[in-house]
Amino acid sequence: MNDENERTFAAFPPAHGKGFAQTWWGQAWLKALEDAALDSAQVKVGRRLARAGAVGAVSVRPGRITAVVQDRDRTAHRADVLLEELSAEQWDRFLDMTVERAGHVAALLDRDMPPHLVEDAAAAGVDLLPGLGDLEPECDCGAWDHCGHTAALCYQVARLLDQDPFVLLLMRGRGERALLDELQDRTSVPDGTPAPAPEGVDAAEAFAAGDILPPLPALPELPEEPGTPPSLDTETPAPPGVDPAALEFLAGRTAVRAYRLLDGQDVFEDELTVAQDAVRLAVDAGEPTVRERLAEGTGRTAEELALAVGAWRDGGVAALDVLEEEWAVAGETLARARAALDSAWDDDERPSLRARGNRWTVVGSSSQLRLGRDGRWWPYRKERGRWVPAGGATQDPATALAAAQEVPLTG
Ligand SMILES: [Zn+2]
Repeated sequence: MNDENERTFAAFPPAHGKGFAQTWWGQAWLKALEDAALDSAQVKVGRRLARAGAVGAVSVRPGRITAVVQDRDRTAHRADVLLEELSAEQWDRFLDMTVERAGHVAALLDRDMPPHLVEDAAAAGVDLLPGLGDLEPECDCGAWDHCGHTAALCYQVARLLDQDPFVLLLMRGRGERALLDELQDRTSVPDGTPAPAPEGVDAAEAFAAGDILPPLPALPELPEEPGTPPSLDTETPAPPGVDPAALEFLAGRTAVRAYRLLDGQDVFEDELTVAQDAVRLAVDAGEPTVRERLAEGTGRTAEELALAVGAWRDGGVAALDVLEEEWAVAGETLARARAALDSAWDDDERPSLRARGNRWTVVGSSSQLRLGRDGRWWPYRKERGRWVPAGGATQDPATALAAAQEVPLTG
């Protein structure tokens, strides 16, 4: 029978030469038996019986574990071991303590019982593991202390504890389901939705674990190319406001960037503004809908975004700046720009330039030079009534102007 307040575990086959407790809490359990038994010979008998498979199915209930144990002569004895249940008030304190520490509930669910959990419980006045004399034997063989039968039962239970620390909590009075429900209640806000889990790991716990954690493994070999994120194109319609294509795109770009960082190709750039970052993203956006969103989100028309992408390809943030911003040039910067323009051409070849801000337009032509903030010159030409970038920047205005005057390959 396995209702909430009783669990029954089938008998184990004989185990040869195996320790009975692999976990620290299983060992602590056995220590409570071994230290308390007045007759250590009985403890040894019990260990032998347990190892030989003489312990029948074990029933675990609050306050009590029970099994039938067979002597070597096949005489069967009902053996019980009693352990005090926690009081309702102790359970309260235990549950409060457990929900306060982010790692404790997760550890229990993982069938783990970290020493911290037991220490924290003890600090809250709750002893989970039995101490000296806490395992009280009762056997129908008539022994008044631990006999081989109750000792065998304790050894068997050490194995059960290894697999599932909830067995100990059941002995202490609460079944797993009830415990998890109570933990859930304590982490819930009144309307029933779970409270957000605290972020991260308790600093003291992380620090304490630092010495016992193995070093991080070496990075795996970098794959040939960045991976492709999973497709979000499922049959389930996306909730309003969620654009799966955009998410897929962002995940893909993130993978590419992570790849480049791992490969040492990329260093962290200056922080981009939203308007700049949208252009950076648009450079690789194949999906028209993604480009449309990037344009709309940054107040550009589709055509303006296309120009911005072209500029970005020519020279990143600096090129984009020259495309979209116009600024006054004055003082030393202006003097240096004029000197550069003066020395770029012989007198008879110098084009007639009209300046406005950082832009110098060749009078009567569709060519323009734009001065970047770093003092380099960017070629521009007029196409369909609009100034468009015509290549990368150079230090020499004449070279830039030549690029601006080249006949574009495509209309
Ligand atoms: Zn006995």
